[in-house]
Amino acid sequence: MRPELDETLWMSLGNMRTHRVRNVVARCRCGHAASVNVDMLPDEAKVPALCRRLRCSRCGKRPYSTEPDWPTRDEAAAMRS
Ligand SMILES: [Zn+2]
Repeated sequence: MRPELDETLWMSLGNMRTHRVRNVVARCRCGHAASVNVDMLPDEAKVPALCRRLRCSRCGKRPYSTEPDWPTRDEAAAMRS
C-alpha cells in the first residue's frame, strides 16, 4: 500500500493544532484553492479526509487535496516572538 493511502499515517487535526495551525488549504481541480478554518471539526479528523467534507466555493465539487496551511517563515517567526 502506498503510504498516502494508509489512513493511520495521515496527520490528524489534533496533531496539526499542536503546531498552532488552524486552517487547511483545499485545492480544487477547477484551479481554486482556499484556506479553510477547521476549528469546528474534531481533533480525530484526518487532514486528507477533509476532502470528503469540504466543497469548492467556486464550482461546488469536492477538493482533490487538503493539507495543513503551514505558516510562512515570516508568520512562524512572528508567532514565536
Ligand atoms: Zn472548484
